[in-house]
Amino acid sequence: MLNQLEQLQKQAKDKHNENKKYFDKLKKKTPKNLDYVMQDLHDAEFKKTDCLECANCCKTTGPLFTTADIERISKFFRQKPQQFITQYLRIDEDNDYVLQSVPCTFLDQDNKCFIYDVRPKACREFPHTDRKKFQQISNLTLKNVAICPAAFNIVEKMKEKLPL
Ligand code: SF4
Ligand code: SF4
Repeated sequence: MLNQLEQLQKQAKDKHNENKKYFDKLKKKTPKNLDYVMQDLHDAEFKKTDCLECANCCKTTGPLFTTADIERISKFFRQKPQQFITQYLRIDEDNDYVLQSVPCTFLDQDNKCFIYDVRPKACREFPHTDRKKFQQISNLTLKNVAICPAAFNIVEKMKEKLPL
């Protein structure tokens, strides 16, 4: 898997300009059926993806923690939100709560998340490829294709399915 992920970074770099041009056009000329197509592509890709064999998102990039996330997860640990913040989080340059370090503290050795049922919203939604108005998150997607093999494949299929 490690080799595959190293390869992914290279492939994403090779595709960066092509993807950027595509997403620039997508913003100007958004197909009416974009949400439906993305939902189908996302579902098809994740049907054949085993995230437990990858966990690259949890290993290389952490989620943002919203106030609701912090309240829910601290309750799970029977901690006060402030205790949870002090123990696990820091504030980043955008003033958001993020993990103090990656790989994520909550990832165990077999790639399982031990706070799975209460995990942050950003983790539940990653890589956001089924997000409505997908054209609005193109900068984020350009980064995510270098982290997430599923997102990379979805964007490749998207370009085939919706040529611009
Ligand atoms: S990087 Fe993508 S494929 Fe890998 S675990 Fe995360 S969501 Fe799943
Ligand atoms: S909280 Fe869980 S799903 Fe989110 S990054 Fe950490 S291990 Fe992964």
